Amino acid sequence: MNSSANFSHIYVESEIRSDPRTEGILARFPDSHVILVQRGSDVFNRPRQSFSAQKKSRSLILARKHGTLFYHGAPVCHSFHASRFFYTTTAVGCLFDCEYCWLKGIYASASLMIFINQEDYFRELEELLKDGSLFLSLSYETDLFAVEELTGHIHAWASFAREHPDLVLEIRTKSSRTDLFRCFENCPNVIVAYTLSPQSVITAFEHHTPSLSKRIQAVRKALAEGCTVRLCLDPLIKVNGWRKEYEALTDTLDQEIDLSRIKDVSIGSYRQSEPYQRRMRKRFPYSAVIQYPYETEDGYCVYSDHREIDQWMRGLLERYMEKEKIFSLEDCE
Ligand code: SF4
Repeated sequence: MNSSANFSHIYVESEIRSDPRTEGILARFPDSHVILVQRGSDVFNRPRQSFSAQKKSRSLILARKHGTLFYHGAPVCHSFHASRFFYTTTAVGCLFDCEYCWLKGIYASASLMIFINQEDYFRELEELLKDGSLFLSLSYETDLFAVEELTGHIHAWASFAREHPDLVLEIRTKSSRTDLFRCFENCPNVIVAYTLSPQSVITAFEHHTPSLSKRIQAVRKALAEGCTVRLCLDPLIKVNGWRKEYEALTDTLDQEIDLSRIKDVSIGSYRQSEPYQRRMRKRFPYSAVIQYPYETEDGYCVYSDHREIDQWMRGLLERYMEKEKIFSLEDCE
């Protein structure tokens, strides 16, 4: 687990206090102050919180997820031609700290909230699968690799996917850990999707995440262990000299990774829902990536030349791999 995971306070919903999974997590943090609450979401969503202050002293919330468990994928997320595209959140909040992360626009809290009722997700998903195969993205609101010791979610979902070949599961990550690949054995329908950025973007905006070279090492190991691997060059950020930066990135990927063994690559320049962007602008007045003068198009903040950027990126990647393996947002509409 990420070394920054120290929780000053742990809020636990009363109804799950005696659940063995709760007990297991609490046992890892004997020095944390445990507070029983009715609803974890009330703590997570309480008003007048400071995201920046909470990052320095983070709380953990253990809860049961109620209500909707599976959401239809948004049009600005890649569906990879899947006719049925969903995402779900089994944890909210991230131990990494990307400046551009949409969580900063949705939530005021930097806490990590873990939902422990996996069985409810699996029950509902089995119902959804009765209507046919589907693509499910698991980690839009956290990085599950970084918190696997706490949640066990990756192991649980891999087992579920092994028994349900109609399910295509994507676990997106920036993690460099390589000790979890064994649980994807006989799971070709589980896609480990690595978000890769030029090191200059990582240094400037993807705080506390592994370096590019460590992520590439993880990709190589994942391939060597037979995992299905996707690369996500997304979001593309226009740092100074961005074309050269992304050319260098793709050159490096070509030299370091056998790209013929990669399932596919997704590309996409920065985009953010306009209300989230507005909130982020208020909360982070000194962030260059948040304060950039984006244009608003169909309710999303985007670069004014986002179509040209995506086309340029596609052309760049086509030097190295079959074009059928490259997905931009336009392909997914
Ligand atoms: S790794 Fe993903 S979820 Fe975590 S902070 Fe970065 S963008 Fe957000």
